[in-house]
Amino acid sequence: MRVKSNSSVIAFAKTDSVSPMTNLNDSHWLALAIDEAEKAHALGEVPVGAVLVSAENTLIASAHNQPISTHNATAHAEIEVLKQSGQVLGNYRLPNTTLYVTLEPCPMCAGAIIHARVARVVFAARDFRTGACGTVFKLHDSDRLNHRFQVDFIENTDYITRLRAFFRARR
Ligand SMILES: [Zn+2]
Repeated sequence: MRVKSNSSVIAFAKTDSVSPMTNLNDSHWLALAIDEAEKAHALGEVPVGAVLVSAENTLIASAHNQPISTHNATAHAEIEVLKQSGQVLGNYRLPNTTLYVTLEPCPMCAGAIIHARVARVVFAARDFRTGACGTVFKLHDSDRLNHRFQVDFIENTDYITRLRAFFRARR
């Protein structure tokens, strides 16, 4: 796995009151998210996985993309991990957390991330069709919305290659 360092950071949004967070374990948590993506792939879903990590750098929840198997257009990995995390913490707001997701969040998920007050999102592949964290839309850093979150793009070429192969095979 090739991981780029801070040079690939695409944006630092102002966050509410978040202390600087460590990047030491980003590759570890992204690898777990990629494991989740593999679970989605095995079920015939688009391979996207996500994990949510606390400010203390502990795992809160993990989930994968499952709209086809659940007949639910909103069952993206990010939505699923936010739902699970809310149950774990007993709160729909998840301040000071970091969401690691394999693919750049879409507008729906970026909206949910804002509602949940997630502080930071790290992703491994850009989404050139619907990416809402800098590639197509910039919902993470809008002065029209009441919360902003930090975005870090840590490219994972192995995952990107597998994702492209998945979409090629589906066409
Ligand atoms: Zn989404």
